[in-house]
Amino acid sequence: MDRLSYALLKLFAGYESAPQEQKKKRLAEAVGHVSSLKAIAGNLSVIHEKDHWSPIQKEERHTTLSLPIVSVRGVGSRMAELLAKKNLTTIEDMLYFLPRHYEDRRMVCRITETVPGIKQTISGKITFADIHFYGRRKIFEVTVDDGYGTLKAKWFKGREAFLRGTFKPEKRIILTGKVTGFPFEREMIHPDFEILDDSEDQLLHFKRIVPVYSEMEGLHQKTLRRIMWHVVRDYASHLESHIPEEIIRKRKLMSIRDAICQVHFPAADQEIEAYQENRSDAHRSLIYDEFFFFQLGMALRKRGELLERGIAFRPGGKMLKRFYEILPFNLTNAQQRVISEIQQDMTSIRSMNRLLQGDVGSGKTIVAMAAMIIASENGYQATMMAPTEILAEQHYRNLKVWSEKIGLRIELLTGGLKTAEKINIQAKLMTGEIDIAIGTHALIQGEVSFRNLGMVIVDEQHRFGVLQRSMLRKKGIVPDILVMTATPIPRTLAMTVYGDLDISVIDELPPGKKEIMTKIFSETQRNRVYDIIRREVQKGNQIFIVYPLVAESEGLDLRDATQMSEHLQKDIFPECRIGLIHGRMRGCEKDQVMEAFTGKKIQILVSTTVIEVGIDVPKASLIVIEHAERFGLSQLHQLRGRVGRSDIPSFCILLAHHSRSDDARNRLRIMEETNDGFRIAEEDLMIRGPGEFMGTRQAGLPDFRVANIIRDARILSHAKNDAFSLVEDDPRLEKTGHLSLLETLSKRWAGRLDLAKTG
Ligand code: ADP
Ligand code: MG
Repeated sequence: MDRLSYALLKLFAGYESAPQEQKKKRLAEAVGHVSSLKAIAGNLSVIHEKDHWSPIQKEERHTTLSLPIVSVRGVGSRMAELLAKKNLTTIEDMLYFLPRHYEDRRMVCRITETVPGIKQTISGKITFADIHFYGRRKIFEVTVDDGYGTLKAKWFKGREAFLRGTFKPEKRIILTGKVTGFPFEREMIHPDFEILDDSEDQLLHFKRIVPVYSEMEGLHQKTLRRIMWHVVRDYASHLESHIPEEIIRKRKLMSIRDAICQVHFPAADQEIEAYQENRSDAHRSLIYDEFFFFQLGMALRKRGELLERGIAFRPGGKMLKRFYEILPFNLTNAQQRVISEIQQDMTSIRSMNRLLQGDVGSGKTIVAMAAMIIASENGYQATMMAPTEILAEQHYRNLKVWSEKIGLRIELLTGGLKTAEKINIQAKLMTGEIDIAIGTHALIQGEVSFRNLGMVIVDEQHRFGVLQRSMLRKKGIVPDILVMTATPIPRTLAMTVYGDLDISVIDELPPGKKEIMTKIFSETQRNRVYDIIRREVQKGNQIFIVYPLVAESEGLDLRDATQMSEHLQKDIFPECRIGLIHGRMRGCEKDQVMEAFTGKKIQILVSTTVIEVGIDVPKASLIVIEHAERFGLSQLHQLRGRVGRSDIPSFCILLAHHSRSDDARNRLRIMEETNDGFRIAEEDLMIRGPGEFMGTRQAGLPDFRVANIIRDARILSHAKNDAFSLVEDDPRLEKTGHLSLLETLSKRWAGRLDLAKTG
């Protein structure tokens, strides 16, 4: 037993960074292990279960869940096709296809007893259904009689053929909606409706809290509900989840089977509001279950990384001391704390996997340098990768000054280098004549190899795919990795996306750092903005003007960088020197422009978002962001960080076209209120949701079926605590009651490895 779980742990150690082929192989191996586990577990009698399943039936249960939907009663191949469009292909998919909302049909009113203003359900027989003309207006009218009175349902829109085909006289119908028309004839406008037939399942759609599923082309709500009924009735009992008893008690969880049944077809005594808002006990249990196994995976993965031997560096010595001496300032408390956290990781035998968060200007570069110095002092090479060439170059310029003073050899390796230079640097990396290599993605491309890479720093990680991270990792032995980001990542997101990383936060800005005054202007105030720009130029300061686009895109009424730079130069600021920089320019062109700007040959730099983060232009005092409403809040915060990099007072103007939507203006307000990147990030996450916030492709967000990391943040944090302390207490999951955890886990992981891959 012990050997088995250990083998499994080892299979998942460093799983993420393994090549695709390896992953497949390891997975297959893991499945093998799990099967043997199952056989063992099957022989130990599972008595706490109400019904006793023999090992074979157990096996069956699992395979049943992965059966295609056509095996469900009433589902044919045509319907299966429709369902497949919603990514519903197996029975398990169906079980987790939860109602979008619920309709309260516990009470069916007599038509004569309906009252104005609230949603009510009535039911009756259709006595009339046809188009009615009111002047030139066409309205489809359906009259319903319930034996006590009549009511008219009206449709102003909708295909006539469809309406005619649906509402046939003599059919029984159920309608839900607000009743109007008092005190005259009662009416419902565009009500929710269902045609009832005389089959036996009326009670499914009636006199209960009725689930409503998300619409599917060509599939009636009622049909779908009937299918779901069969699925839940026949297959919910096949679901299993082996969350340990003590956790179930502590968190007051329902069994997953009961939870699934309740969530689809709530009992009549349930509180419907809780179901509508996904906070019923049933929902909570399902959400917890999903988070728990995800976090268990994270906990084991982290544990696996721990098993992976890394380099045990000696702590920093003379060189580090010398570095601190040449700095013209003292480290902030936060910088000191973070450096010591990193040093602790580095000196331990396990490999470091740490995320460093710190707002723009919090001084992450110094922390990174300290880590690289420690590596160098131990005879290892270090590398730092930035998301853009410009940033790589800036890092290089800064780090070079320090490196030379303390005797480290540093080189810049970017895509823009001449082939001969590249070859030369690559050779030096291999022989170890370079201590620190700075670069972009080019650093991890195939032909580059290091003599002994010990430390990898990734700046602005969320720009890098994990794949790249692992590629780089494979260049060294098992280098320590420090990922840095200036986009503060809200806690809940960090817990999921980086659940297996350790996190350090620089939560303090260097002294004397001034707030950047921020103000929203509207299009009509454009001339005032130009006046402010002129005033700053006269003071000898520099200005950024940022646009969302490079060149005019058809159909979109957006100002674009290229056109506007011409217009500004010719018509508005003929006396100023205006430069243009954007992502479609070649590296060396960008360099020239940036150099001209930092050298003050350019006063106003018109740009797209190419130079998002960390660019140092001390004299830049004003940034104007056009079409601010089109940017995410976190991105605006990043952009804003381009100014205020010295002690001159700095400003940010958000020029917004908010006539388009008031939401946009409200959203931007927080930028005026605060310079706190974490607060802004929380807000941004709330507004845009996790996928958008992170940029879906690189987010590595597992797509939870029920859970939502924002809405369910509390449950997430409970699940994380429970899972991590369980693994700490029983790292190999071998205690009684924990055996089947691995089984459940591997089942869930196996199905969703694609997601883990991007994460
Ligand atoms: P970021 O976290 O955005 O990468 P940087 O490392 O570029 O920030 O630092 C921003 C600026 O603050 C730099 O000019 C840097 O020299 C300065 N700085 C960093 N740490 C301190 C400190 N402890 N005291 C004063 N200035 C500092
Ligand atoms: Mg930086």
